[in-house]
Amino acid sequence: MNSTTLKLAERLIPATYLQQAAEAQSVYEKQIRILVDQRKCPEDGWDDSAIEMIINELSQMDSNNFPHNCGVGEREARIYSGLVLRRHYRLGHGIGRSGDIAEVQPKAAGSSLLNKLTNSMVLDVFRSVGVQKTAACLVVPMATGMSMVLCLLTLRQQRPKSKYVLWPRIDQKSCFKSIITAGFEPIIVENCLEGDELRTDVPEVERLITSHGPDTIAAIMTTTSCFAPRGIDKLEEVAKLCLQYGVPHVINNAYGVQSSKCMHHIQQAARVGRVDAFVQSTDKNFMVPVGGSVIAGFDAKFIEQIGKTYPGRASSSPVVDLFMTLLSMGKKGYKKLLEERKDLKKHLAELMEQVAREYGLRVLTCKNNPISIAMSLPVEESAALTELGSMLFLRGVSGTRVIATTDVKTIAGHKFEGWGSHSKNYPVAYLTAAASIGMTTKDVELFAQRLNKCLGKFLSKKEKLSQNIMSVNEGDSVEGNANLDKSCVDSTERENKVEKE
Ligand SMILES: *Cc1c(COP(=O)(O)O)cnc(C)c1O
Repeated sequence: MNSTTLKLAERLIPATYLQQAAEAQSVYEKQIRILVDQRKCPEDGWDDSAIEMIINELSQMDSNNFPHNCGVGEREARIYSGLVLRRHYRLGHGIGRSGDIAEVQPKAAGSSLLNKLTNSMVLDVFRSVGVQKTAACLVVPMATGMSMVLCLLTLRQQRPKSKYVLWPRIDQKSCFKSIITAGFEPIIVENCLEGDELRTDVPEVERLITSHGPDTIAAIMTTTSCFAPRGIDKLEEVAKLCLQYGVPHVINNAYGVQSSKCMHHIQQAARVGRVDAFVQSTDKNFMVPVGGSVIAGFDAKFIEQIGKTYPGRASSSPVVDLFMTLLSMGKKGYKKLLEERKDLKKHLAELMEQVAREYGLRVLTCKNNPISIAMSLPVEESAALTELGSMLFLRGVSGTRVIATTDVKTIAGHKFEGWGSHSKNYPVAYLTAAASIGMTTKDVELFAQRLNKCLGKFLSKKEKLSQNIMSVNEGDSVEGNANLDKSCVDSTERENKVEKE
């Protein structure tokens, strides 16, 4: 209500009451004024009612919600279901215009403003969690892999001669497939083993740049966040090569925003060398549903170029989710979550070390992986190790991976030996667990308990089995193994029931 209306209301309600209400209202209005004026993520989070108020105000600014609207176009944000309408706060126009995802949509002033505010709030967050030099951010309603495609397609326009993308190996399918989908041929750079850790082979990267010729390479795609025992790529050294040879550098920072280490290395790489864009998932870093990612960079022009490569309009849902979440967390809330995550990573490592010691195993030393932890497993057949994975899964443990290091996988005609382990010949089998944003102490402790139980079962069964096999003739060992697999699952299911009861 504006002051004129409030004055009129004094005929109905005592002025002092109205004054108090007006003061509360002015606090909210001040929050909005500051947000639109400074375009930064607020330090302190807003409460849900203030967030709903601003979303409603913004949606009232879109033409589909104008009382006098008369739509005669083919896209008028008409929404049939009331449920869908409510789910989207009456925002129906999406973001962007036909040729640019960042452009203002004349029919949707509110959605357009919301989009701009979100991009600048994310920029503010990135700058304050370690990448101070970030020049622009673009929230896109596609997950990370597709956003990498968009970056690569933008580079293709600038480098017509390019055919290849140089890619230090990381065994994650979507980033590899983004190269294929963008129509480039991947050049896979195997990692070097340094202690327990897999790291970028920088001399090999340089050799490949010069042997293929810098102009034939669309980009080097490095990775920060990944499963241990792979470490963050040597971003600074690769960035220097990119600068020296004039080759673009795109960083896959899928879940790296939550780690000050990943963010710091991106900042340093941009300081000492070349970084064209870094891409991160919204769900993995900001606790929103899957659906969006942020493309960020150090040259606002290039990020603008990427926005123009996106054909057509786009869903505003991932933007709205992020907008609401950042307002709700505030920078303080986000930083607190990051601190808690860091502490939990330590806790998780300690508990995994305890479990490992109990079974004569060990946690692999991976100083350059700030999120994921790997623990060695006894040498085993791949199938038997898979059973350990299912045992954990049946006990409600999700997200852990058991890696036998002997799997072979062919993706788009490229054969990966040791698939899952980022290497052709990693010396030990292992399992991984990650400490990521939003994890709780309870998650960590339950995981350690269940891991302990499963390993105990798994190893004692293995012992019994090998005694069985020795007492039977050799030819039966394969069958014996199959029995092991079955008995593991059966007993796990039984125990599961018992635990639930
Ligand atoms: C999650 C992730 C991706 C992208 O996956 P999307 O499903 O496309 O978001 C790429 N690389 C790594 C290392 C990831 O963790």
